[in-house]
Amino acid sequence: MEVLLARENGFCFGVKKAVELTEAAAETGKTVHNLGQVVHNPVISRRLAERGVKVIRDVAEAAEGVVVIRAHGIPPAVRAEIEERGLECIDATCSLVLRAQRFTKQLADEGYRVIILGTPDHPEVVGLKGYAGDDHVIVETKDEWEKLPRMKKAGVVSQSTQPPWAFTALVAHVATIAQELKVFNTVCPVTVKRQHAATELAGQVGTILVVGGKNSANTRELVNLARMQGRTAYHIEAASEVRSEWLAGQNVIGLIGGCSTPMETLLEVKQRAEALAGTAA
Ligand code: SF4
Repeated sequence: MEVLLARENGFCFGVKKAVELTEAAAETGKTVHNLGQVVHNPVISRRLAERGVKVIRDVAEAAEGVVVIRAHGIPPAVRAEIEERGLECIDATCSLVLRAQRFTKQLADEGYRVIILGTPDHPEVVGLKGYAGDDHVIVETKDEWEKLPRMKKAGVVSQSTQPPWAFTALVAHVATIAQELKVFNTVCPVTVKRQHAATELAGQVGTILVVGGKNSANTRELVNLARMQGRTAYHIEAASEVRSEWLAGQNVIGLIGGCSTPMETLLEVKQRAEALAGTAA
């Protein structure tokens, strides 16, 4: 059995930077805290924990040392709290998320009612909300955006990992309910390329293994894409989850990882799938 790797795989540049900055901070011997999992990937989380990095949910949990802001970013109030508590701050917010935060603030400052396409409790959206003004609204589904009231000035941004088709559909709808509309396309081009790679893979195989954290938005989107094209897609976090019955009768299967899935995990999955199919070298 052949395991076909997608054209795009491995860390995106934002995740790579966040992991490298956290690892470099851990090397200094200081107490290092990640404010939330640095990336949504259990393998990386374990690796950092072995190097002494602590994951905290609230800045108040850090008595001293360094706080690393993850790629998803944080609201300005939390950033201020880090400074007030005299903690050293390493900002690993992805440059594309910083750009989305800037645009969100600009829309709010210019008097637009900010509409964010995203999952309300996703950390990136929690960060964006902090810049979006008091009357912002978050929508994730067509049902939700079709219930939006008419408005004078609407400004639209997106969580980076939302699918481009959803962003386009939302903008088209808001154009019919707003007198004035300003749009910043903040969908991440790296995730779009990954989604294209998933679509391409779905054109070549009937079964796809999608590897990444169960709480990783961009990984879940890859699973959705494969299933929308009628493919069987299994969402796993590690090689140990691959089951032989998924591979029975297959000549070729596809393999793709989310933007926070390291290549080493993908290669482990590939090896295990090949071994289970009885074709290991
Ligand atoms: S998925 Fe895109 S926005 Fe998110 S960390 Fe990676 S490059 Fe940045």
